[in-house]
Amino acid sequence: MPLDLSSDQKSLQARARELAGGPVAARAAEVDRTEQYPWDNVALLKEAGLLGMTIPERFGGQGKGWLDAVLVIEALSAACAVTGRIAVETNMGAISAVMAYGSEEQKRLAADLVLAGDKPAICITEPDAGSDANAMTTRAVRRGNRYVVNGRKHWITGGGVSRLHLIFARVLDAHGNEEGIGGFLAIRDETPGLSIVRREPTMGLRGIPEAEIAFEDMELPPSALVMPPRGLKKGFADLMTAYNSQRVGAATVALGIAQGAYQLGLDWSQAREQFGRPINEFQGLQWKLADMSIRLAAAQALVYKAARSGEGGFPDMLFAAQAKVFTAETAIAVVNDALQLFGARGYSRNLPLERMTRDVRMFTIGGGTAEVLRNVVAGAILGKKLPQTRDGWMKAAADRT
Ligand SMILES: Cc1cc2nc3c(=O)[nH]c(=O)nc-3n(C[C@H](O)[C@H](O)[C@H](O)COP(=O)(O)OP(=O)(O)OC[C@H]3O[C@@H](n4cnc5c(N)ncnc54)[C@H](O)[C@@H]3O)c2cc1C
Repeated sequence: MPLDLSSDQKSLQARARELAGGPVAARAAEVDRTEQYPWDNVALLKEAGLLGMTIPERFGGQGKGWLDAVLVIEALSAACAVTGRIAVETNMGAISAVMAYGSEEQKRLAADLVLAGDKPAICITEPDAGSDANAMTTRAVRRGNRYVVNGRKHWITGGGVSRLHLIFARVLDAHGNEEGIGGFLAIRDETPGLSIVRREPTMGLRGIPEAEIAFEDMELPPSALVMPPRGLKKGFADLMTAYNSQRVGAATVALGIAQGAYQLGLDWSQAREQFGRPINEFQGLQWKLADMSIRLAAAQALVYKAARSGEGGFPDMLFAAQAKVFTAETAIAVVNDALQLFGARGYSRNLPLERMTRDVRMFTIGGGTAEVLRNVVAGAILGKKLPQTRDGWMKAAADRT
């Protein structure tokens, strides 16, 4: 699907497709089965210049845009969603937040780690603070020339393999006054007090660990504070802005998985014969294939539009939310339809459809659920922030009276 790509973008896409169709596809089933992080694929991405592409050139990256990253993620995810996610998190999310808001020293540290093959972890969610991330209880208390961090994070992608962690916590000054939510950088294995509690057994995307992480009297210097609260919850607002890139990345992985499944289904519909003819000669299946292609084209247009909206900054919040909701739900439907085209074979673990079905299911949940992102879309189109907490609703009602 062409969609106005430059010649550089086409060759980048071709490079990613070649890798995806070759060694990445060959390893995808094994990565899923063994649940091992694919370090060999990380090495391939590094060699092909597909890690840290969005990092500015002065920090060793290539200064590429979000659409460039999207093209790579889309191609990789069609073969192996885990590898696609690694491309997301080495080009978007935490690394892009550090590149936008960090000091020179922090940018250098993060860029060096990512370009060497580290996939940074972003730590927001807690056991009792999921969609309501603002309810987080992890605290960073200023004591002398240190911050002392205590708390627990859950569902941290890369927990146990990632070295660089971007950790969000409530920041308290030396007098115990809360300043808001801020983001800190910490490196696993170099920061006493940061420990991996356990790995979550997941339905899909099994090659990347999802872990619960504990901070117990973890001491960090003030120079680790990458997104300071600055009074007005700036750290959290900055995080949400940067997170729009991660949402576009997540939507792209879902899109890539569905494109991979669609292609398998299309090929099979020609190869498989029943009643003396290829099954794609039955109109019922032709319309299914047509609907799949229409949905994918619409999802791709939304993802590319969201990526393009972020040139020179971060993707637009509304476009990123629209793209993620639509693409995640569409991708689940398309993968399910592709599996159906295979009949019994689709249900076998010998084919990738069952893995794709498990993998794609995540994308209406992680990185903002479809419901919460609909709230974001509603807030944007109605032109107001819609309070979600009970207190917030009561205050809004009181303000109206
Ligand atoms: C594979 C995976 C990877 C993840 N990676 C990370 C990571 O790296 N870092 C990180 O910090 N977090 C990560 N997460 C956590 C993810 O961001 C949260 O799961 C998500 O924000 C939802 O929180 P929750 O699971 O606690 O669900 P809850 O917030 O408990 O929601 C439960 C249900 O209620 C709905 N709901 C909640 N509030 C509202 C509302 N206001 N309106 C309508 N419906 C609502 C939700 O949509 C959902 O259906 C990951 C999750 C998964 C599954």
